[in-house]
Amino acid sequence: MIVEMRTGTNTEEIDGVVQRAKSLGLGVQLNLGTDKQVVAILGSNTGQLSTDIFAVLPGVERVTRIMKPYKLASREFKAEDSLVSINGIEIGGKRIVVIAGPCAVESEEQLREAVKAIKEPGACILRGGAFKPRTSPFSFHGLEKAGLELLARVREQFNIPVITEVVDPHDVSLVSKYADILQVGARNMQNFALLTNIGRSKCPVVLKRGFSCTVTEWLTAADYLLAEGNNQVILCERGIRTFEDSTRFSLDICSIPVVKKVSHLPVIVDPSHAAGHYSLVPAMAKAAVAAGADGLLIEVHPNPKEALMDGPQSLTPSDFARLMEELRPIAKSVGRYI
Ligand code: PEP
Ligand code: MN
Repeated sequence: MIVEMRTGTNTEEIDGVVQRAKSLGLGVQLNLGTDKQVVAILGSNTGQLSTDIFAVLPGVERVTRIMKPYKLASREFKAEDSLVSINGIEIGGKRIVVIAGPCAVESEEQLREAVKAIKEPGACILRGGAFKPRTSPFSFHGLEKAGLELLARVREQFNIPVITEVVDPHDVSLVSKYADILQVGARNMQNFALLTNIGRSKCPVVLKRGFSCTVTEWLTAADYLLAEGNNQVILCERGIRTFEDSTRFSLDICSIPVVKKVSHLPVIVDPSHAAGHYSLVPAMAKAAVAAGADGLLIEVHPNPKEALMDGPQSLTPSDFARLMEELRPIAKSVGRYI
C-alpha cells in the first residue's frame, strides 16, 4: 500500500503513519522526495486491510494499493528516476556509463592491460570476476580471494572503480571490502539469501536478469535489495533463453523501455553474454543505447584468444575503442552522452 502525504506535511504526520503501520505489525519504507513524500506499507496481508486505516490519519492525501508484486522498485513508490553514484560517477543520469573488462580476473598484468584498453576510449568502471558461477563443476571458477586482491591493486593504481560478482551469501562482506559495485549474476537473481545480505551491506549492486525470468520477477527480486534499505540498485539486462540458438541468449531490448516505464531504477545492458560472439556485440550495444539503456557492461580482453573464459565474446582493445566512437553519435541522438 502506498500512502502519499499532503504537500507541506511534517515529520509528526509521517511518523503517525509509520507508527500506525508498526502497530499492525507491518513494515514501512519511506520515499521522502523533495516534492512528494510517500510511505510504503509492506506486509503479506496488506491486501486484506482497508485503505481507510491510513486514509483517515492527519497529513495523508491518498492511499493506493500497488497491484504489482514488486513495490519498492515501482514508479508508484518513487516516481522520479533513481541515480546511483559510484565515486562521483552517476548511473541513471544523462551520461551513459560504460563498464568494461575481462570476464574473469586472470593476472595483474591482464587487468592492467585491460584498464589501459578501456579507460582511454571512455569506459569508467572496470569489470572482472574473481568468483565465477559456472555451469560445470569442472570449469575454472576464478581466482577467488587472490582475484579480489588483484582487482583492489589495480583499482588503486589506476584510480578506477571496480565491479565484481559475489556468488555466496557468506562472501558479501569479503567481496564488498574490495569492490565498488557487487554483481549478482543471472544464475543468482533469485538467490534470496544473497540478495538480503547484499541489501544489508548497502553496497551498490548490479542485479542481472535471470535468463528464464520475467521483468516482473526481476523487479520483485530487486525489492529484496531495496527492502533492506539498499537504494543503490542497478538492473542489468543480459539476454534471456528462447528457442533461438544462433546466439548465446536473446537480448530482450524491449525490457529496457518496459523497465523504464514501470520502475525508477537505472538499467544497463550486457550485450556480451547475450550475443556470445564478439562480432555481434557492437550492434547489440548500439541497439541498447538507442533503446534508452543507462549504461553498458562489455567484456573486453587484452588478448581474447588467450582468455580463460568467454574469449569468443570478448572485444579486443581496438574493437572496443572503435565501438565507443560509434556509440557517441547514437547516444547524442537520444539526448545522452558517453
Ligand atoms: C559475467 O558477467 O561474467 C556473467 C557470468 O554474467 P551472467 O551472470 O549474466 O551470465
Ligand atoms: Mn563472462
